[in-house]
Amino acid sequence: MDTDVETGRLVYLNGPRDIEFQSYEVPNPEPNAVVTEVVRSNVCGSELHVWKGDHPLQDCVLGHEALCRIKQLGDKVETDSAGNPVTEGDLVAPVYFQTCQSCDYCRRGEFYACENDYEHTGKSPDIWPHFHAPWATHYYIYPDNHFYKIPKELEDHLNVAAAANCALSQVLFGISEIGVEYNDTVVIQGAGGLGLNATVVANEHGAETIVIDGVDRRLEQAKAFGADHVIDFREQKTVEARRNRVKQITDGVGADVGIEVAGVPEAFVEGIELVRKGGQYLTMGNVRPGHEADFDPGRLTRKSIDITTVVEYDPWVLFDALEFLAATIDDYPYDQLIDAEFELDDIEEALEASENRDITRATIIP
Ligand SMILES: [Zn+2]
Ligand SMILES: [Zn+2]
Repeated sequence: MDTDVETGRLVYLNGPRDIEFQSYEVPNPEPNAVVTEVVRSNVCGSELHVWKGDHPLQDCVLGHEALCRIKQLGDKVETDSAGNPVTEGDLVAPVYFQTCQSCDYCRRGEFYACENDYEHTGKSPDIWPHFHAPWATHYYIYPDNHFYKIPKELEDHLNVAAAANCALSQVLFGISEIGVEYNDTVVIQGAGGLGLNATVVANEHGAETIVIDGVDRRLEQAKAFGADHVIDFREQKTVEARRNRVKQITDGVGADVGIEVAGVPEAFVEGIELVRKGGQYLTMGNVRPGHEADFDPGRLTRKSIDITTVVEYDPWVLFDALEFLAATIDDYPYDQLIDAEFELDDIEEALEASENRDITRATIIP
């Protein structure tokens, strides 16, 4: 009898708000794959939607923001996706979706749009190699998933490193798509995770930043993350008032760049009012179809605003995100963004606290 078989545990979503723990044999990696132990995995807004049944996914494993330790390298894996040598025990951050290398978008080099991006994510854990998502003791990095070694500057900031594959990578990709330039004025609608990351990145690009939100804690955080101006929408109650305030800051012109990270359809309509003629507008907070707002396309045309949308990113952007964090980790209070730690067994408690907004962001320690 083989007594050496190691088992791991994972969080399984049976149906809405129906979580179970399941155990499976820890797999051996196929060639080009990596088996890891999860060190940290955060609770992100998207998991809350899935858990509440506000999403088609179920019968699956949960989680996507993760920091992992290499347990076993598959045949042919000698480096991370940036060519840095890796060995068992190294800390790595994985991209949470794959780039299949064979769909029409991957063929065009548009990896952010890969059609098979979530092929593994939604699988039942009964299907080998079981550990498809990181709310678990182990996580399987498939051959077509990019992963990167953690810079040593982040070794004391593991919760921050675990979040790099989500908000910061998304923001870096979006901002590279629109191109923020030195001295640009950037208005950011929303000071949640995406908004704070957008504030830091715009600030590091040498932009003057204006952040709009209506929660004291978030407005304070925006300042700590480099906002030059904040607009409290409890005080500036109308679109017109907020537009006037942005105009006042920008010598009557409007912002060069607008970034929507509020996730409400009306923010998109408002953003067009805040950006100057010929400006750039990046929208990435509204990610769920089926929510509408009244929109006047004539306003957009008359202002000749370029609209860019992003969801996901080219996988190598995670490398840039880790480098960005390493370079700025002492300059901003990134650690404050993750303000609660839970053990894997207490995942339901973590989800409830996140839902009730008792905490900003939880991390799970298996
Ligand atoms: Zn996330
Ligand atoms: Zn593809």
